[in-house]
Amino acid sequence: MVQARQRVTVTPPSTKISDYFGTNVYGIDQMKQTLAPSIFKKVVEAIDKGSKIDPATAEEIASAVKTWALAKGVTHFTHWFQPLTGSTAEKHDSFFDAHAGMEKFKGSALVQQEPDASSFPHGGIRSTFEARGYTAWDPSSPIFVFEKTLCIPTIFVSYTGEALDYKTPLLKSMEAINEAALPICQLFDRNIRKINASLGVEQEYFVIDKALFAARPDLVMGGRSVFGHNPARGQQLEDHYFGSIPTRVKDFMMDFEIEALKLGIPVSTRHNEVAPGQFEVAPIFEEINKATDHNQLLMDVMDKVAEKHDLKVLFHEKPFAGVNGSGKHNNWSLITDTGVNLFQPSNSARENLQFLTFLVATVKAVYDYADLLRASIASAGNDFRLGANEAPPAIISVFLGATLTEVLDELEKNGNIKIEKGDNMYMKLGISKIPEIILDNTDRNRTSPFAFTGNKFEFRAVGSQANVAGPMTTLNVIVAETLKQMNKDIEKEMNAGKEKKIAIVNVLRKYIKDSKKIRFEGDGYSEEWEKEAAKRGLSNLKSTPEALDVYERKETKELFERHNVLNPIEVHARHEIMLEDFVKKVQIESRVMGDLALNHIIPTAILYQNKLIENANGLKGLGLDHSAAVETIKEVSKHLESLKANVTAMTEARKKLNKEEDVVKRAKGYQKEVKEAFYDKIRYAVDKLELLVDDESWPLVKYREMLFIR
Ligand code: ADP
Ligand code: MG
Repeated sequence: MVQARQRVTVTPPSTKISDYFGTNVYGIDQMKQTLAPSIFKKVVEAIDKGSKIDPATAEEIASAVKTWALAKGVTHFTHWFQPLTGSTAEKHDSFFDAHAGMEKFKGSALVQQEPDASSFPHGGIRSTFEARGYTAWDPSSPIFVFEKTLCIPTIFVSYTGEALDYKTPLLKSMEAINEAALPICQLFDRNIRKINASLGVEQEYFVIDKALFAARPDLVMGGRSVFGHNPARGQQLEDHYFGSIPTRVKDFMMDFEIEALKLGIPVSTRHNEVAPGQFEVAPIFEEINKATDHNQLLMDVMDKVAEKHDLKVLFHEKPFAGVNGSGKHNNWSLITDTGVNLFQPSNSARENLQFLTFLVATVKAVYDYADLLRASIASAGNDFRLGANEAPPAIISVFLGATLTEVLDELEKNGNIKIEKGDNMYMKLGISKIPEIILDNTDRNRTSPFAFTGNKFEFRAVGSQANVAGPMTTLNVIVAETLKQMNKDIEKEMNAGKEKKIAIVNVLRKYIKDSKKIRFEGDGYSEEWEKEAAKRGLSNLKSTPEALDVYERKETKELFERHNVLNPIEVHARHEIMLEDFVKKVQIESRVMGDLALNHIIPTAILYQNKLIENANGLKGLGLDHSAAVETIKEVSKHLESLKANVTAMTEARKKLNKEEDVVKRAKGYQKEVKEAFYDKIRYAVDKLELLVDDESWPLVKYREMLFIR
């Protein structure tokens, strides 16, 4: 098949990004320009302190936003929210009011809406007779214009106030981490008033020709190719990584980056990724809520812009077997209102103790709540990536690098060193000289799911199509929990008469010791690590339904409730929604597999077999050797038989499971009796047939055609 090659010329609005950055955003600058000073002050307060916006103020803002939007040719507005489907949702309303004969936008419409959204997942929270859900404006994330529509970022909650989206708990988790981190920060610096979590998301994705995409029903239906033999040249040569970007893709990148920049998304890096056809985009980090919205929006922008270039972006975690999958590296840190990154080692010993405190707390949190962190990234798509050959394992571990490992080991070892008044404690414990060494500590372990990378933690096990709010909410909550506990432990030491910094060090030593098992510096992809991790007692939950069990634990529900992030009903609902989602995905995928096998692969293979039989008979009639033809006929028959039998059995397994009422059992059944029992067998037969049947008649676009875009 020939690729459609249509080059779209891309011209940036200006050679200077600053000329057009954020022009489609109603941000702080635009607000300042268009609102009366008293109104502007109230919005800033709402953004910074989460204070409520009164109706009169809302009216003023709505009016100003409308004027700003109309000048941009905008005709509609929408509340833009993130339901638990994983994508974003919007319902557009026209500004035009036919009765009044003019464009209108009320303050109430800005602040709250009641979308008819009964079909979004709610995990039993909304019974159908009370299907109302509300969206409410989140002023901390800026309003923007996308595709001639004014988009207002909102939360999405049920009539009774339960969260039905990703944003609500994320916002609450930001409160939780602030509340927990503040007392610890104030042990070091009384001037600190607020702590913000920051996030920079590196987004990996594949790009393929749109026509080829359309010719693969599996990609269209499920985003993943269920069949396809490895191309002769995969990623063995490693020539794609950081190689030159194919022209068509570069044009596409420039184009979507321009749109993203206009939307205030600070995209800054682009490059090829490891697999052929795989790429990465990363913005500069931002406050976590904004960064999350921006990542969701960026995926939409990429999707839309790709159309123009006759390309298709694949965000699935594992669109192609045999080559690397895609993730979203979540670079996370905590930054104070005084501008200090708490994960930034510094030149002052005092600040270093603060740095170590937060570092150790995070490591301990990951150790204590590894299962919860694992569950936060569980999805049908990510299962193909985690624990597979080319990706981080399903085992959660933390990489710190040689320098920090030494520092922590030293601290632990020196656990019995007596520190006297007048001693230079930092010297004595070997923590006075971290910065010099760390600054050039660039050894990066790419195989770790959770790595410290200089001045931030990088959670790499997050799936490429996930809404990062899920894992980030969890991370905020578990670190908040640990910090709270830490604060209590430090207080206890101080109450027992210990000097502050000694109290802190004592607690750190204990936490380092307690969480040691989670630290791993070696090759996370290796088999030895799986064995070693098992010895250490670390979990290795390979499938989503298994990983999600943790949500039903009493401690989990109490944890989220204690931090006011999710109540037990909401946690339970989320568990159910994620299981349903898993079942649906596997169901669709296995149906596509069956359809492709029965309607495309088997008939094609039979026709080819007939040709071979004719050929064998002809040769035989001529008295010639026909053993090669007979051998091939046998091979084709063998795979055909196996294919047919397995597809039939898989369909039966699905039928049985669909009758299962208990969603946990249904999901676990789909995992074991559908996925594990049949996927590999079916794929094996099809991929073998692909190599046997003549190229001309093979009904599916092949890997080599899709992966090497030029
Ligand atoms: P890598 O080598 O992994 O590609 P980069 O230095 O390019 O790492 O950074 C990757 C991402 O991390 C970017 O989005 C960047 O803005 C973000 N980042 C850098 N510093 C921080 C920080 N302190 N907090 C959160 N994210 C950060
Ligand atoms: Mg990275």
